[in-house]
Amino acid sequence: MKIRIPIMVQDQTIASQKGMRPTEECTLEGERFFLDGPVTERLAVLDFDPKTGELSQGTHFNAAEATYEVEAEPLDSPDFLRTNAFGTVLKTMYMFEEGDTLGRPLDWGFDGPQLLIVPAAGEWANAFYEREARCLQFFYFQSQEGQRVYTSLSHDIVSHETGHAILDGIAPDLYHAITPQSLALHEGIADLVALVMAFRNDTLRKTVLDQTGGSIENITAFSSVAEEFGRAQGKPDALRQFVNEKTLDPNDTDNLVDVAEPHDLCQVLTGALYSVMVKIHDTLKRRFAQQDKTTEFSASGKALFVGAERFKRMIFRALDYLPPGEISFADYGRAIIASDQASHPQATQGREWLREEFVRRGMARNLMALEVEEPFEHPAVAELDLQTLVDSDWAAYDFANRNRRLLRIPPHFAFRVRPRLDTSKTYYLRGGVKKSIRECIFKVSWDAIEPNPPGSWFPAKRQITVGTMLAIDWETKKVRARLTSGWEEQRDDRDALLKRLDEKGVLLPAALSTAPDGTPLRGAIKAELAGDLMRVRGTARTLHIAGT
Ligand SMILES: [Zn+2]
Repeated sequence: MKIRIPIMVQDQTIASQKGMRPTEECTLEGERFFLDGPVTERLAVLDFDPKTGELSQGTHFNAAEATYEVEAEPLDSPDFLRTNAFGTVLKTMYMFEEGDTLGRPLDWGFDGPQLLIVPAAGEWANAFYEREARCLQFFYFQSQEGQRVYTSLSHDIVSHETGHAILDGIAPDLYHAITPQSLALHEGIADLVALVMAFRNDTLRKTVLDQTGGSIENITAFSSVAEEFGRAQGKPDALRQFVNEKTLDPNDTDNLVDVAEPHDLCQVLTGALYSVMVKIHDTLKRRFAQQDKTTEFSASGKALFVGAERFKRMIFRALDYLPPGEISFADYGRAIIASDQASHPQATQGREWLREEFVRRGMARNLMALEVEEPFEHPAVAELDLQTLVDSDWAAYDFANRNRRLLRIPPHFAFRVRPRLDTSKTYYLRGGVKKSIRECIFKVSWDAIEPNPPGSWFPAKRQITVGTMLAIDWETKKVRARLTSGWEEQRDDRDALLKRLDEKGVLLPAALSTAPDGTPLRGAIKAELAGDLMRVRGTARTLHIAGT
């Protein structure tokens, strides 16, 4: 079923400064049904009366006209707040489900079919995704000028929070990670989702390129996240900038980030990837200008459209390749390189740019640290019946147990086999040839034990999850990629994060972190204790849009 509704494309005040209309009609296609709310099989908007707390009837779905009964003005009408958040979330999901991104329907990181969306959750300058409540919550607040600002009207914020929910379905272990870079990856991916969604808007692309003379290199509507939100809070600029020199290199003290603060840390990752995007855009602009015998400015729009799609494939497809458990920026870098290398062995330029940026910003020790294996054959994989491996937990466990060395499972360790994925992604090969590559993605995890920092109430040791990802080509049975988390290097950073969370009073022993009815206290992170061992749960709940 196909419907059309108006949604925001850019923050309201920013749009008026740039001379753009803030809303555009958008087409939503692919849901089995639409109901009043809006409600579909996968999403449900819940709108509560701020005074009585009662759930509203929601916005009526007009089946005859295939639309919701909503006007684009005024923007803060309850109907528009609901349908705008709904439409933006759905559009963001569609981007991930496209054949050349993940090429499969998304799964949520929680049990249950519907992600709940609360477009006006109350007064607070914040917005977040929460797995336990299965929902995205968007709050509103008074700006310094006394205007009410709805976070659910910000395209950046809604797509950012949707990014968290989507990533939680792809890499659920990140939700409990205690490696600061794992949490920063959650934050960074959410910001990059907002960026890619902005790149995909025709009006925004044209407006920005007209204003910058065809460049995305400097600070523009693309390179900043949640401009209006930042300014309304009295910050000089947007919440975060992609155009930055932030680094993990301790010698560069001007740009060195706080390694235990995920919102700060994530800008190293997004800064690195944005600068790769600028290089992709510049190269395509020169190529298209030559090919089409035109100026680079005239070619800049097509170059941005094509470049953004390439960037999207590069950074999001790799998420399926993340090993389970704790993840570092270097792990993600290797996942990008492995997924790109397996499909485009000859086109090395993008991977070189990525390696340079990761090393320059201290995200990887050296270029070697980002090397990944070429696709290879393995006798145990060659004889697999992949359909059985996908369908049967027993067969999957048996395969892993017999091939511990292949999967790098330490001897005598208990391990867990994760649900297998059967995915088909579209790849654009040389000469514009389109090919669908079907893979079985096999993930296995185990628990590593490491010491806790002394001088706190923490028990002597802690347990963390680590693991291996194997991507098997369905047709050739070759291993396209094998990646194991490089978790040992991040131990000091984990110490720093746990100490920080303890100082702030948010990391609590399990008995103190839940309300009497069993629901987790807002903002509390749970430390489960067993003897001299500790396991931490729910760290991603600190990743609110406004930071901690
Ligand atoms: Zn976030």
